[in-house]
Formats: sequence, structure tokens, C-alpha cells
Amino acid sequence: MTKNTIAIGVAISLMTFIHAAEAEQRQLGAHEHGHGKLNIAIEGKRVQMELEVPGADIVGFEHMATTPEEKAQVAQAEEQLKDALKQFVLPAAASCTLVKVDLGIDTGGDEEHVHEHEHEHENIGRKGDHKEDAHEGEVRHTEFHATYALDCASPEQIKMIHFAYFKSFPNARSLSVNIVSETQQGSYEVTANKPDIDLSGSM
Ligand SMILES: [Zn+2]
Repeated sequence: MTKNTIAIGVAISLMTFIHAAEAEQRQLGAHEHGHGKLNIAIEGKRVQMELEVPGADIVGFEHMATTPEEKAQVAQAEEQLKDALKQFVLPAAASCTLVKVDLGIDTGGDEEHVHEHEHEHENIGRKGDHKEDAHEGEVRHTEFHATYALDCASPEQIKMIHFAYFKSFPNARSLSVNIVSETQQGSYEVTANKPDIDLSGSM
């Protein structure tokens, strides 16, 4: 096996890891408020992060922002989320720069709700109370979805990650963090009470 084929193998397995994690999330249906997910992939000097978190954690609600206050809340949250290095603080020695941000609000929860309650459609001729409920959209879920690309001059210096995220978003209680590099893979549960990951010795 040449050095090149090894590198290609690593790249493919990192992508598979990320896509598998995404597919798993899509299948989960209703999410858990207070709980989000962050995938981190480190490949050479490039660090990619993907955050998927309930709207409840970020702005405290999941309906469409309608009032000026709600719209301002969403706009402010988006500004905060765009600044990845302020939320997910990496050691200065790693010299990371944010090079790309993709931020979106996913309202796919509605479809999942309809799908989960598919059996109700069997009652379509009977006009049950259930169908009325489904149309009120009470179970609607919204997620903030952000992907980030960072370039780090010294990625080997990413020995810890501090999650200022929890201070920025007090409704967020925990994050499941998956980190994969060319040599290591790790899963961590980070909480508002313990907002740090110590990677020294493990990456
Ligand atoms: Zn929700």
C-alpha cells in the first residue's frame, strides 16, 4: 500500500463517519430539547465541524419567528453561531482561523411528525380528534444546523476544547461531541456544568 492510497482511505472513512452520523440524526425523529450534536473531523490542517441543535436550545422556541423580538433573537443567535471560535474555543497555540460557515434553520420536524403519525391517515374518513391536533402543529420541531471549516496551523495543539456555547445559549444543556482525526476517534458528552473536552494524550 503506497502512502497515497492510505491517505485516500482515511479521507473516505472520515466522510463515511460524518455521513453515517448525519443519517443517524435524520432518523431520530423528534429531538430532545436541551441536547445537541457536534461532529468534528480533523484532516491535516483542516478542521470541519457540524452542529445540529434544537431551536429550543438556541432561541428558546421552535415556531417561526413572527414578532420583532423573536426575529431579533434569531438574528442575534445566528450572529453568535456564525462565530464558531467564540462558541467552541480552541487553544490559541493551534492557530485556527474560521474559513467557511454555512448556517441554516431546519424545519423538517413537521414532516417527521406527519410521518410518525402516519397511522392517523387510516382514520381519514372518520375525522378523529387526532387529525385536528396534527394540524395545529404543536409538535413542530426546528433545528439550527451549522457547518464550519477552519484552518489550523498547528492542529496537533488542539488539546482541549472549551464550550463557551453553553454561556451563549443558556437553554442548551448538553452536546454529544464526536471527534475523528486521522489517528483517533472519540465520543464525548459535554454539559453546561462541565463545558470542556480534554484531548491531551488522546488525539
Ligand atoms: Zn423541538
